[in-house]
Amino acid sequence: MKHPSILVWLRRDLRLDDNSALTAALADAQTVWCAFVFDRTILDPLPDRADRRVEFIWQAVNELERVLRARGAGLLVLHSDPADCIPALAKHLSVGAVYINRDYEPAARVRDRLVANELAQVGATLVSFKDQVVFETDEVLSQAGKPFSVFTPYKNAWLRKLTAQALAAHEPAPEAAARLANTRSATVASIYAQYRVPNLESLGFCASGLEQLKVSGGSAAAQALFVNFSDRIGQYQIARDFPAIKGPSYLSVHLRFGTISVRQLARFAFGQMNEHASVAAGARTWLSELIWRDFYFQILHHHPHVVQQCFKPEFDALQWDQNPAFLAAWQQGETGYPLVDAAMMQLNQTGYMHNRLRMVVASFLTKDLGLDWRTGEAYFARKLIDFDLSANNGGWQWAASTGCDAQPWFRIFNPVTQSQRFDPQGKFIRRYLPQLANLSDKEIHAPWLVPAPRLAQAGVSLTQNYPLPLIDHAQARARTLQRFGLLKPAAEKVAPA
Ligand code: FAD
Repeated sequence: MKHPSILVWLRRDLRLDDNSALTAALADAQTVWCAFVFDRTILDPLPDRADRRVEFIWQAVNELERVLRARGAGLLVLHSDPADCIPALAKHLSVGAVYINRDYEPAARVRDRLVANELAQVGATLVSFKDQVVFETDEVLSQAGKPFSVFTPYKNAWLRKLTAQALAAHEPAPEAAARLANTRSATVASIYAQYRVPNLESLGFCASGLEQLKVSGGSAAAQALFVNFSDRIGQYQIARDFPAIKGPSYLSVHLRFGTISVRQLARFAFGQMNEHASVAAGARTWLSELIWRDFYFQILHHHPHVVQQCFKPEFDALQWDQNPAFLAAWQQGETGYPLVDAAMMQLNQTGYMHNRLRMVVASFLTKDLGLDWRTGEAYFARKLIDFDLSANNGGWQWAASTGCDAQPWFRIFNPVTQSQRFDPQGKFIRRYLPQLANLSDKEIHAPWLVPAPRLAQAGVSLTQNYPLPLIDHAQARARTLQRFGLLKPAAEKVAPA
């Protein structure tokens, strides 16, 4: 045993199964405590008190506490600044170490260094584990020993490195599970009683309507989604592109908060890819998406400047327009381009947006409206329930053509042809823009081209219930080509024409 007792501080790994830090703690100590902190430094500044992410986390924490209690243990839940309360708790419990799963975001790394220093003052160490990704930071490097900045060679190297061991579940030995601090001891029970899960209101939040959205925080809900998706994985490579159908897994929020293990998902995809020819193409494509996730985590780790700046510094010279009215129209789903507007409605109403649409609206903001990708990135960060700094920043810089392995700057999504291709019957548009429901499958993608009598017949008024387009796509495209053209030498380095 390395220590008589260890505290496991759960953060974005809100599950008990296949959890690296917890499994290691159960192997290394006689007594293991689990804690979660509702971090006031993150929660207090949040503008929206009906925050879906906070409710999701709160539900997941409640589930953890229920499951731990059923095992005769408990969860210590705090509402404070972790830099203060984790060292204080470590001291109170007299633990020799605090075990965590690594968080790769720059702010989290600063926080963890601070906590480690404070823990040292009370004689405890902070020990971290890989859990959030399959391969982290320096594990996948080029032959020259450098981090990759282009996805395909990264993916190939990632796949070459893959072993059964890398995907194996981290489960404790059966006898180790009994090492969770047990309520049979009155002292332990009284400690748990001091740290029960607070209600949402006492955290300063209220219900956000997750239930109506059929989203639930916790591992049980994640496993149910996984089971549902496992029957559909064989069609993923085609179905994933059509927002009107149930194509993707909808697991992103669970990966974000660790209510499901990425190893479990990658293991499943890899197994399907190799064992079942009929679903291999779908499984391969889905595994590739999980590799994109690892890819962006390592980009953020090696290039933390991307949080504020373009991945390629040359693109920081781009002259974006300043147009608050355009930004507001984009945010509210009032651009006059139905697919863009329906997508923004989906984001505003549900906190989720389909991947194809994330690409379409990001391209529209940067290439059609000429606005800085950071303004769109910040709006997504506020609204997305699955917001993850690495994937969000990577996705935005990809769409804006400022990032690593970006969409070439001269390739600009056409919002009408994207709509015709990926929502051919306008089903998705009708779901979120019911005022356009009576337009035909052909008309719905560009209502401004529909003759006035026909619009009137369909109950659409391009001043009353749906806007005219904010911009003309062809003109906007020309302006964008000019904007990037001014940086031609830099732009060409990324994407030779
Ligand atoms: P599935 O299609 O089922 O994919 C499975 C998992 O793979 C996802 O849950 C996700 O973890 C990962 N994944 C899929 N695509 C990507 C990708 N391009 N990059 C990195 N990981 C990926 N994803 C986030 O998790 N958080 C974000 O904040 C985020 N912001 C984005 C912003 C933009 C502009 C773009 C273009 C993409 C963004 N993505 C983000 C990636 C992707 O859109 C979502 O992961 C996906 O739509 C989530 O739905 P799903 O779980 O059903 O995905």
